[in-house]
Amino acid sequence: SKTAELPGVDPSKLEITKTSTPKELTPNDQLIFGKTFTDHMLSIEWTASDGWLTPRIIPYQNLSLDPATCVFHYAFECFEGMKAYKDKDGKIRLFRPDKNMERLNKSSSRIALPTIDGEGLTKLIAEFTKLESRFIPKEKGYSLYLRPTMIGTQRTIGVGPPGSALLFVIASPVGPYYPTGFKAVSLEATDYAVRAWPGGVGDKKLGANYAPCIVPQQEAASRGFQQNLWLFGEEEYVTEVGTMNLFMAIKNKETGQKELLTAPLDGTILEGVTRDSVLSLARERLIPEGWAVSERKVRMSELAEASAEGRLLEVFGSGTAAIVSPVRKISYKGQLVDCGLKEHEEAGDVALRMKNWIEGIQYGEEQHEWSYLV
Ligand code: PMP
Repeated sequence: SKTAELPGVDPSKLEITKTSTPKELTPNDQLIFGKTFTDHMLSIEWTASDGWLTPRIIPYQNLSLDPATCVFHYAFECFEGMKAYKDKDGKIRLFRPDKNMERLNKSSSRIALPTIDGEGLTKLIAEFTKLESRFIPKEKGYSLYLRPTMIGTQRTIGVGPPGSALLFVIASPVGPYYPTGFKAVSLEATDYAVRAWPGGVGDKKLGANYAPCIVPQQEAASRGFQQNLWLFGEEEYVTEVGTMNLFMAIKNKETGQKELLTAPLDGTILEGVTRDSVLSLARERLIPEGWAVSERKVRMSELAEASAEGRLLEVFGSGTAAIVSPVRKISYKGQLVDCGLKEHEEAGDVALRMKNWIEGIQYGEEQHEWSYLV
């Protein structure tokens, strides 16, 4: 491709300008997701003529952009969500950063923004997290949420490929998603609005995919449901939930075998890093227990039927923020589909085990190739 011939990012050229006004740390119990940010940001500019320029860590600051900049008009924006964790020895770890880099490049190339060497960017992000180490609480469940973002910065309202871009990474310390233990959510099966469609860009992490989901989310909330369960097509296939992938554990109607199901990556599903991790762990650790694991299309009616027949064991969302998020019930065509939790339960068995397994790897308690030591 055109960008392949241009200079790539060079982590050895990193220039660091430290802030002269370090922030006060927010007490752990007052951390709110995405509200407070660290002292610095990573910033790398790209131009169509010179490729990736010098990577810089600079004090966290406002961007100054001309109102004609293409990102404001045509949504040349994509992003990632990943976390840095501090293990019991105080070492910083990333979780499968290669997956986020791969997805970032898939997203950016779809909207005519440049790709970047994933290993190089991971090294730079690692340096950035080291500099911000004091913002990462040591307690398990806490982490530093990282938001790599790429925008088109060309000053033009002509519609075309951006001749310049900016990649920046900001970081926000976060606490556990469920500070007092799991709390199962309720979903509204949404058919009047569609999040993603075949041939569309729902499998890319573009900012443009998110804003249109807020009104349906408000609608669902007004009826007492925390998230939308996005259905697709006449068959009402279940796709994703809010900003998480969806897993369903069902007892097979004929054989009675337990099956862990999730929608296949057909272009309408965000390729979640947590989804991939859950699938991989399920294949390694649940199949030997007799489970079947499949990526296949599941109709909402199949889910409702399994529930009515007492064969729906559990349902949970998966994503970086919560790892897993158990589901209690789904509103569907005026009925409530019970997702298998007992009244006093907030999480099913698979969700609980997955959370423990993944968290164990993230915090370095279990040696695993998914953990990237900074
Ligand atoms: N689906 C959507 C629409 C999302 O925004 C996210 C969050 N990135 C996910 C699924 C979960 O992906 P991941 O496990 O990589 O956080």
